Amino acid sequence: MKKETHPKYYKDIQITCSCGAVYIAGSTKETLKTELCSACHPFYTGQSKLIDAAGRVDRFNARRQAKTTLNQKLEEEKKEKKGKLIEERLEHLVEEKKTTAVKTAKAKTKKTTTKKA
Ligand SMILES: [Zn+2]
Repeated sequence: MKKETHPKYYKDIQITCSCGAVYIAGSTKETLKTELCSACHPFYTGQSKLIDAAGRVDRFNARRQAKTTLNQKLEEEKKEKKGKLIEERLEHLVEEKKTTAVKTAKAKTKKTTTKKA
């Protein structure tokens, strides 16, 4: 048989919870930390408390806020671009009408001249 295959066992170590509760138990580790225990878990307390040990909710909210502001900016830029595009199109149309009017006028004068001749 191999010797010393078992890790050292500590009879009474302290398990500390993030809520402040301390438990004594046996373990192969000298100390243990936990984020939830029977004193603070919503299942035992009956309160619906948001469990946010790593600040995930805050990070999510920050990201969402950043995204919404970015989207708003993009939306505004889009609107500006659309307005500019419409203006450009209108200008283009006006120019086209002018040129076509000139062309038709020229054609009319040509026609009239050809008719006369
Ligand atoms: Zn706890």
